[in-house]
Amino acid sequence: MSMRVVAVTAIVLFMTGTAHAQLSDTEQRIVAAVKQRAPAALELLERSVRINSGTLNPEGVRAVGDIFRAELHALGFTTRWIDMPLAMKRAGHLAATHEGGQGKRALLLGHLDTVFEKGSAVPLWERRGDRVRGQGVNDMKGGDVVLIEALRALKSVGALDNANVEILLTGDEERTGNPLQTARAEMVAMGKRADYALSFEGSSKHDGVDTASIARRSSGGWLLRVKGKAAHSMGVFSAQSGYGAIYETARILNAFREQVIEPSLTFNPGLIAGGTTVSYADDTATASAFGKSNVIARDAEVRGDLRYLSPEQGERARQKMQAIVATGNLPGTSATIGFTESYPPMPPTEAGRKLAELYSKASLDAGLGRIDLLDPSLRGAGDVQFVAPYTVGIDGLGTQGRGSHTDDEDMEIASIERGAVRAALLIYRLTQSGTR
Ligand SMILES: [Zn+2]
Repeated sequence: MSMRVVAVTAIVLFMTGTAHAQLSDTEQRIVAAVKQRAPAALELLERSVRINSGTLNPEGVRAVGDIFRAELHALGFTTRWIDMPLAMKRAGHLAATHEGGQGKRALLLGHLDTVFEKGSAVPLWERRGDRVRGQGVNDMKGGDVVLIEALRALKSVGALDNANVEILLTGDEERTGNPLQTARAEMVAMGKRADYALSFEGSSKHDGVDTASIARRSSGGWLLRVKGKAAHSMGVFSAQSGYGAIYETARILNAFREQVIEPSLTFNPGLIAGGTTVSYADDTATASAFGKSNVIARDAEVRGDLRYLSPEQGERARQKMQAIVATGNLPGTSATIGFTESYPPMPPTEAGRKLAELYSKASLDAGLGRIDLLDPSLRGAGDVQFVAPYTVGIDGLGTQGRGSHTDDEDMEIASIERGAVRAALLIYRLTQSGTR
């Protein structure tokens, strides 16, 4: 055997024999504590999933909140239920606080509600080998369990004593209550005093590598209203009668497509109606129109969404759209557009990248592979965005599964343990290191 081969063998042995060399003694005990809890963690998930907690089922949402509240209380958290005004028809949120020493403050985010309302045909819980299918297993009761198990492991080795941790599990993530300012007031307040926000929505793989998100696009909408003159169709294109609302709407939408598109920005007209009269029912998302082919269209309406990565990009898009709507109108027509923003954008930042590096390092140190950043265009909006203007956030710390929001939503059971190991190490390192 040559020296060279001996050396290579030694390195291989060294690497495999010391997979946890990057973890301190305390950290190794944290990992062991997570692993020991694996069967109990799955039981906790099952208990929470067997209760329907569709957003519009407040009793169910509160009952799931009670389960997690008892767990957090046992870990030494002060817990409270935040009620929403009755008119909002939402269950409210579970908040929990753990005051420690001088270390950094972490805000952990989850939600109790699911998209599966009472009467859903989807089974509550169905074990399928090493996966489980059910209502909200991955989105995101699995993530809630990851959050709790990570804290439990920290508690078991005494690493929670000096940690400043706040938790908010919302009851209306899937259909946020109105007004939004009320629904997310507590979250914003918590975000303002947090050094980090860790959100436990599901994680996904990209090219075989686990990912997390430090950037998420806004979600909001726009409503385009166009007016023309109702007149006999024989006069269309003439100075007196003009082109009508439908031609003008077509001009505007085409100009949006030609002039406003840029990377990370999308805007989708999802519903259009035009004719002599137009009406729209919000509760059923249904438009109706009356018109005749021999009458120039007087009214048209388009409803669309708008998603952008930074406030600047949103402002640029709105200004361009506004200008297209207000100028160059076809003869005899006029148009207005209004915008709403429901989730503010969470742009990528240097601080976010550093946080993601810490998360990836925690995963690597535990032998669970690196974590890549997820392209924000591959993900919808989420709660973490409400705190993004005030603190450094990361999302995707939860479980892994398929088919979120569909009847086939499922979760890989082993991803609970992986997520809890990573999260526990990250929370430990964030809250123990450095003073505020
Ligand atoms: Zn979710």
